[in-house]
Amino acid sequence: MNRLGKEDLSQMGREYFQSLEKERLVEVASNLHKLAVEQLERLEKNSSNSSLPPSSDIFKNRERVIIDDGLEEISVLEKSKCPEETSPEKKESKETGKSTSQGFGKKPPGKQVGAKGMWRSKPLVATQIIPHHPENCAACNQSLEVEPANKPYMGYYVLELEKRDSGIEVTCVLHHYYQGTCECEHQTKEKPLSGYISVVEGRKKDLQLQEYGLVGPMLATFIASLSVRYRISRPKIKELLQDWVSLELSVGTIDRCIREVGIACAPVVEELIAELQSAEIIHLDETPWYEKGKYRWLWVAMSATIAVYHIGSRRKEELLYFITEAFVGWLVTDGYGAYSDYPKRQHCLAHLIRKAIALTEAVEREAADLGRWLLEELRELIHTIATGDGDTDETDSHPARLYRVCRLASVTEHSRLKALAREILADWDAVVACFHNPQLPPTNNEAERALRHAVISRRISYGTRTTEGSLAYCSILSIVETCRLRKADPWSYIAQVLTQARRGIEHPPIPVSC
Ligand SMILES: [Zn+2]
Repeated sequence: MNRLGKEDLSQMGREYFQSLEKERLVEVASNLHKLAVEQLERLEKNSSNSSLPPSSDIFKNRERVIIDDGLEEISVLEKSKCPEETSPEKKESKETGKSTSQGFGKKPPGKQVGAKGMWRSKPLVATQIIPHHPENCAACNQSLEVEPANKPYMGYYVLELEKRDSGIEVTCVLHHYYQGTCECEHQTKEKPLSGYISVVEGRKKDLQLQEYGLVGPMLATFIASLSVRYRISRPKIKELLQDWVSLELSVGTIDRCIREVGIACAPVVEELIAELQSAEIIHLDETPWYEKGKYRWLWVAMSATIAVYHIGSRRKEELLYFITEAFVGWLVTDGYGAYSDYPKRQHCLAHLIRKAIALTEAVEREAADLGRWLLEELRELIHTIATGDGDTDETDSHPARLYRVCRLASVTEHSRLKALAREILADWDAVVACFHNPQLPPTNNEAERALRHAVISRRISYGTRTTEGSLAYCSILSIVETCRLRKADPWSYIAQVLTQARRGIEHPPIPVSC
């Protein structure tokens, strides 16, 4: 039997079924049943019953939530959250302390109990020794002399990358710390400085930013760049460093570097958000994200010179992270309901055009025709804005024609066409804002482009695992993108930020656009 295609389906309808004799109707019904079963089985395919990869499961289950746009999503999410409290599975997982979320089941991440440790195959050889003597007495402030016979009371190696004219060089420096005795008999020890402590509930050891550590700021920033910007997994970074530059670092150390860099960058991001409030136009967009398998959203807010990322829920309140009362400019967004309260807003026309394109392929001819008309009006609207030669006739302007086709489409039977037309009519002022305000971009392409990198990253890594990991990912990405918008070198700036953060000193000024 031939499989029913789009053309076949478009010829069927209530009238056609009513015209059929019973026997023929049974034939038609069984063909339709076959098609429905086939489609359903296809939807239910996952890694355990087909050759699909396990990575596809996590997205497969939430397909409906990802594809749709609009307010219903929140209710779907809320619903899926609520029963967890009472579900027996969850209770059990609480007792055993293990997560049952898909893809993160069985084992906790990191080194397993009883696993073999990591040892250095060759001892580190320092190319330079840097002595640190106390300058003043800690008790009486008297300046101290360097005593040549003194031996250091502690020391540590730092592996670092140094930029040379001909490229990058790996260096190993030994830091020696001394103590000095004052005339007042007080002994003062020179100590490596330390900065911010990041606390995560349930973690065995807090993350302290400090100078004392094996990986120097430039090397740590390089590792963070490999992970966040170049999307290389931690084990692969280990392999790359070992094979190409003979640096032996454990996966744990590599992970620590990425978090350290991210935490160091967080105060810079706060400053960027404050700066963002005076922007004229902000692009906003969001995409699904996973944090330890939990459904989250990755948001981006962009102006001409700032990009800020944030991982959180999809609630309206999450917007307050980016947009405070101080902001009086324009927002460019998609049709998501959380934005609708903001009065000065441009609704992204590219989103509407994509939906209209999908409608032109609709099975029902009437819907497809109206979809094509709607598409044409939207495209012409963008064209008029781009060329600036709009017609002045009020009754036959592009917005007026678009309004007419939407009114027509909003009363049709076709659910998707009706939904699109009503979306446009409900948000009418925001849809045509760019027609009346020529400085506004008609699409949200800027923000969408800024999210593309993260979307690919999500597909490779399945998101982040902790709130700290999410914070680190977002702050690094924010600074890298902001520096790129300002045509500044993100890596040397981030290395400076980390150097200061490890000493507990405020970050250096953010590069300005040239
Ligand atoms: Zn003293």
